[in-house]
Amino acid sequence: MTATAAPVASRLRVPEDSDWTQAAACADEDPELFFPVGEKGTAPAQLELARAVCLGCPVVEPCLQFALDVGVTDGMWGATSPRERRAMTGRRNPRYYYED
Ligand code: SF4
Repeated sequence: MTATAAPVASRLRVPEDSDWTQAAACADEDPELFFPVGEKGTAPAQLELARAVCLGCPVVEPCLQFALDVGVTDGMWGATSPRERRAMTGRRNPRYYYED
């Protein structure tokens, strides 16, 4: 993880009329915690640390719903990993929706 990474909230691209990100518990977290590279190595441990943040987040439900609605493929959203969201939706190739 790098100390210079942009906060997670800056990587979210949500509709302008949606303000749930204003209450995101991850707003000041390092996004690399929520968006580990790959699914092996340190990635599972990173996702579990991110999940712990999510589980204390007041907007966990709209965050998960957003990720499911738009098919976010990477990262921890609404306390779910990419694999968990794929299992929930049955999607094999959901669309990307966040910016690097
Ligand atoms: S549920 Fe997790 S990813 Fe979603 S806004 Fe809250 S802390 Fe961030």
